[in-house]
Amino acid sequence: MPAVRSFVACLAVGLFLAPAALAQPYETGQVYFGRNDYVEYYAGDLPLIFSAPHGGELTPNEISDRTSGTTVTDSFTRETVLAIRESVFEYTGRYPHVVLSNLKRTKLDPNREIVEAAEGNQWAEQAWTEYHGFIDSAKESITTEYGKGFYVDIHGHGHTLQRLELGYLITSSDLGRSDTELDTSGLAGLSSIGALVTDSNTSFSEFIRGLSSLGSLFEAQGISAVPSSSQPSPGSGNPYFTGGYSTVRHGSRNGGFISSVQIEAYRVGLRDTAVNRKTYADAITAVFDEYLRLHFGWAGIVTGIEVGVGTLPEELRVPQNHPNPFFQSTIIEYVNPEASRVTVRVYNMLGQELETILDRYEPAGVGRISWNARQRPSGIYFYEVEAGGRSIANKMILLR
Ligand SMILES: [Zn+2]
Repeated sequence: MPAVRSFVACLAVGLFLAPAALAQPYETGQVYFGRNDYVEYYAGDLPLIFSAPHGGELTPNEISDRTSGTTVTDSFTRETVLAIRESVFEYTGRYPHVVLSNLKRTKLDPNREIVEAAEGNQWAEQAWTEYHGFIDSAKESITTEYGKGFYVDIHGHGHTLQRLELGYLITSSDLGRSDTELDTSGLAGLSSIGALVTDSNTSFSEFIRGLSSLGSLFEAQGISAVPSSSQPSPGSGNPYFTGGYSTVRHGSRNGGFISSVQIEAYRVGLRDTAVNRKTYADAITAVFDEYLRLHFGWAGIVTGIEVGVGTLPEELRVPQNHPNPFFQSTIIEYVNPEASRVTVRVYNMLGQELETILDRYEPAGVGRISWNARQRPSGIYFYEVEAGGRSIANKMILLR
């Protein structure tokens, strides 16, 4: 697929950019490396940033092993973030920003202050500076283009309880407090989503563990998560990660327009095989699409455009799919004037139904679904969107 091709092409070129020369030189879809490939940045054009600080494998001799702190690798988190990048691209045709540390955690821990992260080694310090510089640069371009955005720091945990641990910089004991206490204690301003809460009528507790919280959206995808509506707090005695240096620095605890979460994932079923990582990545894509729709007032991650009630059409609208013609997968969008059951079906040229690719209750607004035609021959196909008693069909062309 295109994402993989451009990735390989850039590796072959061995593109290198000194951090000093970074004004706005980044081209969406391209990959950029820090010194010795210790740090890697995939430029994006969506208001989302994903990073993996603990998935690297490089152990250069010029950096001696760290002598304190945690040095355990979060296995396959680098691959997970690259799978997320691919999944988001398949879904939207556009890229999130991605920042990776390729150094093993024994050499550098970018999720710490520089002193503890690099222990005074100049090359580790340079990699640390490049890593956070890439994230700063992504934040700047998102703030310029969209005004706000979201940063997700991807980790892996080895805890017994097989659930995602979502860190908003709120401790386990604070999560043990009631919703009212959470909403009135000033904790929102100390969280990594302070800007988002300030900007919204939604309560802090709803953001953290209501039905529209990330945790509940993950649970709707079949992935257990804390905090969420069904698991409002980790529970005393259970280990839980509240978020680290990157969540503090790059989220909105200290102001700014980018909010953040640290996601700690269990291994078996999410990180351990390419198939599971793809499923996890698709779930993350769906969750953030919904989250941005619910909390940013946007149509989802694809455009970042505002969709107010006043802008909704009176009748169902189904614009042309894009891309079209397409080579492997395409995106079908619709604008639903009112909440209703939405069905999207694909037909061949003879009018025979091939697949129902969507059939669920949807809120009013812009919705989208991608159709992967990997198994189909070249030719003309039709898609039909049915909602609220109306249906609209369009033609699309698959090329091989
Ligand atoms: Zn980690």
